[in-house]
Amino acid sequence: MKVLLVSMPFGALERQALGISILKPLLQSRGISCDIRYLTFPFADIIGPETYQWLGYHLPYTAFAGDWCFTHALYGSSTPGYEDAILRRRWQQDETSVQRILWVRSQVDRFLDYALAAVPWSEYDAVGFTSTFEQNIASLALAKRIRAAFPKVKLLFGGANWEDEMGLELHRQFPFVDYVCCGESEHALPLLLEALGAKGASRDKRLARIPGIVYRNPKSGESVSTGSGAPVENLDALPAPDFSDYFAAQSASASGSGVLPGLLFESSRGCWWGAKSHCTFCGLNGNSMRFRSKSQTRSLDELKSQAARYSVQTVEAVDNILDMEYFEEFLPRLADAQLGVDVFYEVKANLSRRHLRKLKAARVTRIQPGIESISDHVLKLMRKGTTGLRNIQLLKWCAEYEIQCEWNLLYGFPGETAEDYAGILAMLPGIRHFRPPSACGPIRLDRFSLRALETMRYLYPFPEDVLKRITYYFDFDYADGRNPMDYVRPVIDYCDQWKESPGASASLHAALMPDGALGILDTRLGQRKAIRLEGWQQAAFERCDSMQPPAAIARHLMQTGFGEQPGLAEFLDDCCRRNFMITDGRNYLSTAIAKGHLRERLEQQEERVIRSVPATPLVHLGAVGA
Ligand code: SF4
Repeated sequence: MKVLLVSMPFGALERQALGISILKPLLQSRGISCDIRYLTFPFADIIGPETYQWLGYHLPYTAFAGDWCFTHALYGSSTPGYEDAILRRRWQQDETSVQRILWVRSQVDRFLDYALAAVPWSEYDAVGFTSTFEQNIASLALAKRIRAAFPKVKLLFGGANWEDEMGLELHRQFPFVDYVCCGESEHALPLLLEALGAKGASRDKRLARIPGIVYRNPKSGESVSTGSGAPVENLDALPAPDFSDYFAAQSASASGSGVLPGLLFESSRGCWWGAKSHCTFCGLNGNSMRFRSKSQTRSLDELKSQAARYSVQTVEAVDNILDMEYFEEFLPRLADAQLGVDVFYEVKANLSRRHLRKLKAARVTRIQPGIESISDHVLKLMRKGTTGLRNIQLLKWCAEYEIQCEWNLLYGFPGETAEDYAGILAMLPGIRHFRPPSACGPIRLDRFSLRALETMRYLYPFPEDVLKRITYYFDFDYADGRNPMDYVRPVIDYCDQWKESPGASASLHAALMPDGALGILDTRLGQRKAIRLEGWQQAAFERCDSMQPPAAIARHLMQTGFGEQPGLAEFLDDCCRRNFMITDGRNYLSTAIAKGHLRERLEQQEERVIRSVPATPLVHLGAVGA
């Protein structure tokens, strides 16, 4: 058995296809010969890497322009009306963009002719396509041509676009697709390929016993699903991915030379938070949600050897959420290893200062903590298990440790109110010196909703009930007929301005002065204000490094020898008025970025709290400043 696994446009140029890179060594260990081809680079060479990346990153992804460019090659003609309905009307693309997309479409046949000639397809018993995001129509178009030219080659599909019900329905609609692996393929694909080596009834019996595949009943021709696939329980048992084909394709291609690849790395699957409390808008479910992680030693060894083998500068973990146990061993050992690579991880937002320190030490320089709002009510509707103030606390600490924090403001949740967004708008000036949200956009509904995303009608010319089974993305209306833009617009406008002039030069810093008092320098909004705090006000302000209720701040003042302070409430509210602190009505949080010795003192303060050691009385600094 000899198999070829293929990654088609519009797979990312700067990233490897992780799934097939794990499957290759896995299949080889079972005696199955396996090659990988990245046909992403040849297409980028034809249309130019800038245009390829523009289609992938600059156009709204639910326009699916990349997919649409291949529709005529799959169906014989493109569904009419896409340019007007989707590009011009729905996504307001200008004429230059529309013409650029039409030009890309005109290059598709040339590319498919090249692909058909460049690969010795007849040498393979089976060809498997991995399909996520906008890889589906290009993969189907090439598969159809392979079937016509090399009818003996079995055609397999897998990846996120072919999961569960979507895989079954796509298999029904595209008769040249022989088999589908739904969900994690590490168990199913080797068994499927081994079964294909058998003949007649024996093969059919074996196929029926493989969980997680779709095949055709040899008598009726009906598509048959064998149900959910078996997820990998022991991730340590998986081989390290083989990315050599990616790097070979990248260096052989003209468009690859401009690409700075990051290395994909996987230390867990599923989500430990979602297994407890599923965020309302999350597409993970069932088996894919169950959290499994590699042992910390295995992850570290793999990261070390992969970074050395491929000589990269950045590593991107594909985990949905970092395993909190990794803070104890994996991250400290990664820090000691000094690999010289920057690492990206998705994390839960409720991290402490101590967590951030460990991330920074390990060179985790970019994180995505799933901050999708700073409104408590909206976060509750999302079931995110965090609060607006806690999210802002993380933004502040990321700014301090110079960790790039990717976050978004999402809107359009059923149950949200105009007041939620008025509240967000009121908070934004106080955090303007932090990194702005990468995007401010509407929620997207994935699967099992009202109607298939409008764009899907132009990609798959099938009836609505079929579209609902094959699409991952849906359109919806609000029961009360609302248009969220009526109340979200001011927040979007503010964030747009913020992104255009982020707070790099303007900031709010706090540092210890030579006499031990606290100096706050505010250079936001074109001003330059210096404020001095000392005595109980300094102690209260420093205590609000992490969000605190007034009662806890008062207790802290008692413990540090400042006694009861009747002016505390007024002081805290004054700090909020001046945008040095922010409050949700229950807790107060300082928004000043701590520098130098102050940061060390705040780190010690946190350690004392973690170890429940009583606070040491501060030396009284005399009169109230500011
Ligand atoms: S934390 Fe992220 S991955 Fe987990 S359930 Fe929520 S959105 Fe999904």
